[in-house]
Parts: sequence; structure tokens; C-alpha cells
Amino acid sequence: MTAHDHTHLRPWRTITRRPSRKIRVGNVEVGGDAPITVQSMTNTLTADANATIGQIRQLEEAGADIVRVSCPDVESTAALSTIVKASKVPIVADIHFHYKRGIEAAQAGAACLRINPGNIGRPDRVRDVIQAARDHGCSMRIGVNAGSLEPHLLEKYGEPCPEAMVESALDHARILQDHDFHEFKISVKASDIFMTVAAYQMLADAIDCPLHVGVTEAGGLRSGTIKSAIGMGNLLWAGIGDTIRVSLAADPVEEIKVGFDMLKSLGLRHRGINIIACPSCARQGFNVIKTVEALEARLAHIATPMSLSIIGCVVNGPGEALMTDVGFTGGGKGAGMVYLAGKPDHKMDNDRMVDHIVELVEAKAAELDAKRLEAAE
Ligand code: SF4
Repeated sequence: MTAHDHTHLRPWRTITRRPSRKIRVGNVEVGGDAPITVQSMTNTLTADANATIGQIRQLEEAGADIVRVSCPDVESTAALSTIVKASKVPIVADIHFHYKRGIEAAQAGAACLRINPGNIGRPDRVRDVIQAARDHGCSMRIGVNAGSLEPHLLEKYGEPCPEAMVESALDHARILQDHDFHEFKISVKASDIFMTVAAYQMLADAIDCPLHVGVTEAGGLRSGTIKSAIGMGNLLWAGIGDTIRVSLAADPVEEIKVGFDMLKSLGLRHRGINIIACPSCARQGFNVIKTVEALEARLAHIATPMSLSIIGCVVNGPGEALMTDVGFTGGGKGAGMVYLAGKPDHKMDNDRMVDHIVELVEAKAAELDAKRLEAAE
């Protein structure tokens, strides 16, 4: 049993997920009891298949469950089949307006189309896109954005608001439902977190499809992360959200890292090392900040869920170590105490401690992986 398995003993940590229908995005399940998935979007030119595949690889390595690529032109959908074949994760094709791109993307093997059926236009074109999705086992995402609401809704409501966003989403959904197409999820994003949260809360009550949660155009790495964590964190805490995308004006790999950190913070999903570290102060027995930076970099390859506490001194060290798989607490004469499974185990010199902790974590990860494999057999 690892430290985080104790969660069920602490009811104040319980998040009850909103019941939703389960759909598939390629081989990944979204909604119902499926784990909350983390996705991002490439920012390479999709027509440049090699560059796009390269970025998808990086996202896969960071743990992305699903990756979206834009398909603004025919060159993009032409490159899509190469991209889809080279990808380990399902690919969502982002389509705006051009119904032909939607059909081409479905034919190219996209696992999901991000398209708003109400924007396609003529009913025969809507029907053709839905048919292409059905024929090729493609799901869809309706993506409503406060910045691009339909003119009639802006007129009706006066300005972008949660009610207008939900009405837009339900209008698009109705088109799919009228075609007996139910493999879809919905997002209602705004750059304003109050509007985003209110829109998702309303939508969550109005429909049972899975929800793709995100705050759109959140900002740069730091401010966007904070804005997303408040908005999306609020929703996830309330059990709303089946797949997430953090939208940052930053390297898409950061979006995946932030997404997982968000889910880890809420105990909704565990991937990789959850490092608990003190902010450090004059009492620190070693350089906590530098150590945590080094450990984060050297343990980035670990996907096994594990916890590690790196605490500057005995004020909080033993208490935090109690709850983690591996711990280190600073304290006097250039050495600190290593904790294993919550218990003090042995002393270690500060200058050898990073290498030592990496070794311990890697060994523990291998042990946990072997146990999991054994249990699965
Ligand atoms: S655990 Fe110790 S070193 Fe870290 S912030 Fe607290 S008192 Fe300072």
C-alpha cells in the first residue's frame, strides 16, 4: 500500500464525480468511470507532418492521453493520416466551419472531430460530416467559446454569458441528437473564470454527455496556470470534468504537466512523482529549492504514482515523511534523514542525497510496477 492509498480513510478528500455517459476518443474512454484524461494541442503547422509528429511525441512522453491538431486547410488534413499513424495517442482534429475538412479528417483517421455542427451551415453538409464521423468511428467535441458565440445569442442575451454559452452548446448537441449521434462531449470555455465555472455548472445539470473542461486563453505559464487552477480546480473539485486541457501561451508540454499537477493536487489521478517540499527558511539543513529543482528534472521520466517529501528540517520533516513513500529531512552536520514508507530509515550526506533519492525512487517505482503487473495477471 502506498501513502496515497490512505485517501479513502479521509472523507474530506472525497470528490464525487458527476455521472456522465461514456464515449470513446479512439482507444481512450472519456466520461463515466474512466480516469479524467489530460490533453493538449500542437502548435506546429499540421501540414508539416514531421514537426507535428515530433511535438506529439513530446506530449506523449509527458503523459498526454489525447492530442488535438488544427486542420485549417486541405494541406493539414492531407498530412493528418501520416500524423495519426505515427501517434500512440488518439488525435482530435480541430475544424472550424469547413465541413469538407471535417470529412477529410474523419477519413484520415482522426479519433474525434472538434466541430460545432451549428456552424457547418447547410443541413446536407451537417449530415455528411456526421455520416463521415459515424463511418470512421470518430467521436465529436462541441466546443463553445464565449468569444465566438452566435450573433442571435449575443443579441438575445446582450453579451457573452453562461446562459448564452449553454444555449449554444445545447443547440449544437440537439443537431447531433437529431441525427441519432451521441458520441460527443462538450466544452463551454471562456477566458473569464467566473463565466467558465458558471457555464460548466449549468451545462453539467442540463446534459449527461462527458465534459471537456478548460479555461480558454488563460495566459502565460504562471498566470495561465493560476487562472486555470482556480477555474478548473473549482469544477474538478465539484466533480465536473471528464477530460481537461489547460490552455497556456507556453510550450504545450507544460499544459500536460500542469494538467496532471492539477489532477494530482485533487487526488483525481496519480501520475509520476508528487513532490511535497517546504518553501525553506533559515532552519533548512540543505538547499531545499535547488534540491527540488534537481529532483524534479531527474525524476520527470517516472510515470509510477509515488510521493516524495523533501523538507528542510525536523519542524515539518517527520510529519510530512509519514505520508510519503520516500522522504528526506534535513538536520545538522551536512546530513539528513531518509524516510521509507513513513519511517526513519538511514542517514545520508547532503551532497550525495540527490543521487541517492533518485536511486531509491527508481527502485521503489520498479517495485510498485512489478506489484501492479502481478496483481493484473
Ligand atoms: S520545514 Fe524547516 S526549513 Fe522548511 S520551511 Fe519549515 S522550518 Fe523552514
